[in-house]
Amino acid sequence: MSEEEILKEALRKGLLRTWRGEGKNHGRKVGQYYPSGIGSCLRKQYYDFVSPKPPTPEELAIFATGKGIHEAVADALQNSGVVSVDRIEMPVSLQLSKEVTLTGRVDILLAKMMGREVIVEVKSSSHLPQQPHENHVMQLQTYLHALNLELGLLLYWDKRTGQISSFRVERDASWLNKIGERTFILDAHLRAGRVPLREAFVMGKYWECDYCPYLAECDPFNLNGVEKGASLAMVGVSAIQRVEGGGYSLEPDLVELKEIVKQLKKNGQTVCVLGDFPDDSGKDTTQLLKTSGVNYDVIITKPLGYSSGRTWKAELAKRLATKYRIATFVDNDESVLEHVRRIAETTLSLKPGDRGR
Ligand code: SF4
Repeated sequence: MSEEEILKEALRKGLLRTWRGEGKNHGRKVGQYYPSGIGSCLRKQYYDFVSPKPPTPEELAIFATGKGIHEAVADALQNSGVVSVDRIEMPVSLQLSKEVTLTGRVDILLAKMMGREVIVEVKSSSHLPQQPHENHVMQLQTYLHALNLELGLLLYWDKRTGQISSFRVERDASWLNKIGERTFILDAHLRAGRVPLREAFVMGKYWECDYCPYLAECDPFNLNGVEKGASLAMVGVSAIQRVEGGGYSLEPDLVELKEIVKQLKKNGQTVCVLGDFPDDSGKDTTQLLKTSGVNYDVIITKPLGYSSGRTWKAELAKRLATKYRIATFVDNDESVLEHVRRIAETTLSLKPGDRGR
């Protein structure tokens, strides 16, 4: 082995050891969970326990960068003369039941800021968020409840530009319920050996799947019963609330929709309906399509996490295009088609403007 190779090997092994030393995915016990993970996809966390994968070189690089930034922030605050740092990397534990505990480490505990102790949670990022990420708030809320403190600050540091933003997080009991609920769901699935639902997919957090190490096992963009490589037609259907008389009307209406689906199937395409249905009409509308003889093959309804049906459909099409040939995209909403067109040239096999009818 040459000196260059020895150096590379030493770095890889050393990083892996540090990574393991910080408890990442290694020797995990059912009943003990990490606050930093509990907000992410429950199925992903399940896989982390039952079939953990070693980190990819990219994950190790992200880990090393994050570690460096955490240490730099702690050093900077210690040297600032503005605030006083009490502890860094402080172990904390929140007992949820006799058998279930959340254990983690608080990045920085400030001894006094405006007269009170404050937790600072540091996140390095490739762009600054407008709002704090929910899983980060969940992590910080866990620490606030574990230490019985009132205030935390989430600090985001853009590692490309050096820009910083921070968000106040006040201790809030409703978060404790949410944290407990998620942790017990994961715990129950692990004890029963039952895989949880594909949470990130169901919630429309497709980006989480893009980076998930278990994407191949989970296979969330596989349409049941549709062969890989099939020619797919995606048909957007919306339930629009009527102003007069209440209830919802469909766009396109049932007669038009039946005809569209019939033509597409005649052309040998598998029809995937994308249902943009309000939460209170979702089940009924799906049932209505079935009983009205709309002969689609698959239906996917708008994820709970999305308020807009526009970006969702385009984002889904982008991922489905990794498995299927998307031959047609039909939607009455021009802005949906605009989103699809934007990604079509590079990602989809679809010709921009192809309405399939
Ligand atoms: S691929 Fe997506 S849904 Fe599946 S485990 Fe990963 S994050 Fe969850």
